[in-house]
Amino acid sequence: MIKFLDLEKVNNRFRNEIDSKIKKILDKGWYLQGEENDSFAKNFAAYCGTKYAVGVANGLDALRLIIKAHGFGDGDEIIVPANTYIATILAITDNGCTPVLVEPDINTYNINPDLIEEKITPKTKAIMVVHLYGQAVQMQKIWDLAKKYNLKVFEDAAQAHGAMYQGRRTGNLSDAAAFSFYPGKNLGCMGDGGAVTTNSEEIYLKIKALGNYGSDRKYHHIYKGLNSRLDEIQAAVLDIKLPHLDADNNRRREIAKYYRENIKNPKVILPQTYDEAAAVWHIFAVRTQNRDMFQQYLLNNEIQTLIHYPTPPHKQPAYAEWNNLSFPITEEIHKTVISLPMSPVMTNTEVQKVVEVINAWK
Ligand SMILES: *Cc1c(COP(=O)(O)O)cnc(C)c1O
Repeated sequence: MIKFLDLEKVNNRFRNEIDSKIKKILDKGWYLQGEENDSFAKNFAAYCGTKYAVGVANGLDALRLIIKAHGFGDGDEIIVPANTYIATILAITDNGCTPVLVEPDINTYNINPDLIEEKITPKTKAIMVVHLYGQAVQMQKIWDLAKKYNLKVFEDAAQAHGAMYQGRRTGNLSDAAAFSFYPGKNLGCMGDGGAVTTNSEEIYLKIKALGNYGSDRKYHHIYKGLNSRLDEIQAAVLDIKLPHLDADNNRRREIAKYYRENIKNPKVILPQTYDEAAAVWHIFAVRTQNRDMFQQYLLNNEIQTLIHYPTPPHKQPAYAEWNNLSFPITEEIHKTVISLPMSPVMTNTEVQKVVEVINAWK
């Protein structure tokens, strides 16, 4: 069976380093807010090119904290792609803000910047972009709009560690960016983890405090905060894996290139990229009208795939108030999309087999 993602194989490459690091942490007996967090935050900020990074408990919290730190709440509108994982939307509604959904470009799956301006109202506070599947959003038009209407820009970079736009990395393309280190992400830990990157000292300090009960020092609480911290073991694992992220992303690019050049089945639509070298291919999503049959066919041929995602946020029971809304491009993507096996540990033989099997699909 060709796995969608062989996580055991991914992390086994670092087994010795992780083993000895965990031993060290056990010997030391310090589990939260210590050296490992400081080191990883420093290294991750340097990697993204930002002044600051702060570890938090997960990607959803990173998103929630960004909105909270900017003081946005009741009645404030945040523009966001309709075509995203539900976490992006949950972070907005959790803060009492209103998500204003915008359709994506069907070829890149990312928010269509040309459809944003018509959604801006006096209540609009920010544009939250999502670098979906590892391809950075084309930010220029979004920066221009933000300037024109005095809006903040945020990134959901949970699928795009290391991806670039105009030579700058995601995480450094906005006022603040959220990362997830969920195990299957391009940079993943061994449980839940997340981070916020920013160039604003004020936002950095505020998020650091907000994630630690709103305290700026022990037992002194300046905000009504929450508990959202990255633990030392996860920070240490991430620090071990970070130096290998670029090599891993390059391997993903090689696989994506091979898929894009060799998959030739008229029933299978390939993803488009505006800058092949810059995307990090967290997910390689193709589209086909007979998605369920295609998935079963691949499974019969020992190829595991996943669907990212079967139902868009506005059709979820949790957002019943939107269930009658229509976002035809988003819905078409969710109906037809399927994610092929993609990971830095896939072998050439496996990649070739995926292509052969797809090309033989009738
Ligand atoms: C994974 C993901 C998140 C949430 O990250 P968690 O760490 O699982 O909370 C948010 N947005 C997108 C686009 C994601 O893929």
